[in-house]
Amino acid sequence: MKKALGELLSGFVSLLTGMRITLRQFFMKDVTVRYPHEALKMPKRYRGHIVFVRDAESGKSLCIACKSCEKACPSDCIVVDGIKREGEKRKSVTDFNLDFTRCSLCGSCVEVCPVDALEFSKNYNLASTRKDVYQIDLVKRMEDGPK
Ligand code: SF4
Ligand code: SF4
Repeated sequence: MKKALGELLSGFVSLLTGMRITLRQFFMKDVTVRYPHEALKMPKRYRGHIVFVRDAESGKSLCIACKSCEKACPSDCIVVDGIKREGEKRKSVTDFNLDFTRCSLCGSCVEVCPVDALEFSKNYNLASTRKDVYQIDLVKRMEDGPK
């Protein structure tokens, strides 16, 4: 009888402990997001694929197609081209293709750029079986993206 009462008491204490933990978690802030309906806010130092930085006034890319990033890339995953338009002092970028399947996110391209035209995106949503998803046209991306 004594043993049974002891077991009952111990079970009750165990139940209360479990309920206390459950209730505490219930009122705590969520640490998960309802993916894909909610987006994660990525940390400042997160490195997604590279993207162009927009000029604050014109809204265009700062890139002058100097090809320094293309040369600096250890994985040969950047191809850049540009033209010098009449009346302009510098070249404008016309093509900037990134093969993200080869990119190691080393940051050499961002560091070497003389006009700070590149930055890392916060894009983490790139898992796909389609290879073309990883061939990124930065010029088109900028034209199609928010102005
Ligand atoms: S982060 Fe590194 S590997 Fe990726 S494109 Fe830039 S230089 Fe190349
Ligand atoms: S992104 Fe920078 S380093 Fe690369 S071509 Fe443009 S200006 Fe040159």
